Amino acid sequence: MNDKSDCVFCKIVAGEMPAKIVYESETALAFLDIGPVAQGHLLVIPKDHYSRLSDMPAEACATLAADLPGLARAVLTVTGASAFNLLQNNGRVAGQVVEHVHFHLIPRKAGDGLGYRWEAGEYPPGRDVEIAEAYKAALAQTAG
Ligand code: AMP
Ligand code: ZN
Repeated sequence: MNDKSDCVFCKIVAGEMPAKIVYESETALAFLDIGPVAQGHLLVIPKDHYSRLSDMPAEACATLAADLPGLARAVLTVTGASAFNLLQNNGRVAGQVVEHVHFHLIPRKAGDGLGYRWEAGEYPPGRDVEIAEAYKAALAQTAG
């Protein structure tokens, strides 16, 4: 598995790899995605290496999340987009390629053709209650 030593985003944080950095704080970095799905597509990362969101301490996640509204406003202002997607992939199966937590901020315009696949399913009778109860039990153990 990927770790800090072969992590491309850690290399960007360390200044060992070039990136079009647009924002830097003590704990976070935002830069242009090298393969933008729309012009102005940003990535927002914590400077510390975490593979997945589920590996992050809540406080580190909260600190990172606090930067998102301002960066999202910048996306709208700079690109002239009327909307944006905030995406965050965790694990290969979910489309994660770079195993260092990152948020995608993707500007959206009417008719941009990017699409959005969201095929709503349904639960067999009673399964929603079972799953909701399983969540509540798990979260009672791991709150925070
Ligand atoms: P994900 O599929 O969610 O892991 O997204 C990884 C993203 O990182 C992709 O959109 C890539 O285009 C982007 N990416 C990979 N390497 C770099 C890099 N060196 N600089 C900027 N963006 C990168
Ligand atoms: Zn990393």
